Amino acid sequence: MAWQAKILVHNGRSVPFHEARLHPLSVATAYGAGVFEGIRAYRNPQTGRFSVFRLEEHLARLVQGMKVMRFDDPPSADALREGVLRAVRENEPDDDVYIRLQVQIEGLGGQETTGPVGWVAAAVPRQRSARFATGLSVGVSSWIRIADNSVPPRVKATANYHASRLVTLQAKADGYDMAVILNHLGKVSEAPGACLFIVRDGRVITPSRHSDILESVTRETVLTLAGEAGLPVEEAMIDRTELYVADEVFICGTGQELQPVIAVDRLPVGNGKPGAITLRLQSAYESVVRGTTNAHAEWRTPVM
Ligand code: PMP
Repeated sequence: MAWQAKILVHNGRSVPFHEARLHPLSVATAYGAGVFEGIRAYRNPQTGRFSVFRLEEHLARLVQGMKVMRFDDPPSADALREGVLRAVRENEPDDDVYIRLQVQIEGLGGQETTGPVGWVAAAVPRQRSARFATGLSVGVSSWIRIADNSVPPRVKATANYHASRLVTLQAKADGYDMAVILNHLGKVSEAPGACLFIVRDGRVITPSRHSDILESVTRETVLTLAGEAGLPVEEAMIDRTELYVADEVFICGTGQELQPVIAVDRLPVGNGKPGAITLRLQSAYESVVRGTTNAHAEWRTPVM
């Protein structure tokens, strides 16, 4: 059996996991006024030690989100970093950890309310996707991706996931593992909780940051790893039909990790099996997150 979460850190205090409290009329629940990060801590198989992957990049994105949300007296990155490390340490995990770090308006009030702001760092077990090795069958959603001039995707706000849920529920109802979402221009944006890449003629291509994507930490990691592997990389606009003619498609994100896509709208991608470049990048990603390579030690924060 997987380890169990015992505590979470709420406003700097360790609280028994099932006893954490928030008022049901807080602005966080009433209007979805929260920003969060999904972060992973991986166990190194040789040492048994844990390190948090790209913690500083996640903290930086959260700080940007709090600014856009005009939060009063936001918690410092130092306090949040310490909260994350403490949540992992005090839960004494024996396997990989998924961390949710969330900052929210815990006070009551109307839409203009900007505080008091609280935060929570929770560490829970999370299994790898059952499709990690075999690949996902995805469908293009009829829902449209949220946009920067309404619900900015660059801000990882809890409220954004209302749209993602509709996409996911439709995809499940239609018999797909996951969906791909197009933006208001009809160009490929991303999946409901992950970014997307295609491979065409050896080029590794992902929607640009002007495609209404979340500026994903994993996307940036994959672009770096692909470049280091000598593969040409490109950030561009991607058409729906490019998904159908691509040699390979894969998705990536902290929670989803890097997973092949083997069918889009029931058309096979390439030969319908995970592609060679996808598998190479999946393996490179696994080595850097787990620290079985010395490369990019700066991306791993040890949990002491
Ligand atoms: N897009 C969305 C909508 C997401 O929720 C996520 C997961 N945070 C991603 C992309 C991937 O982002 P990251 O690589 O930073 O986890």
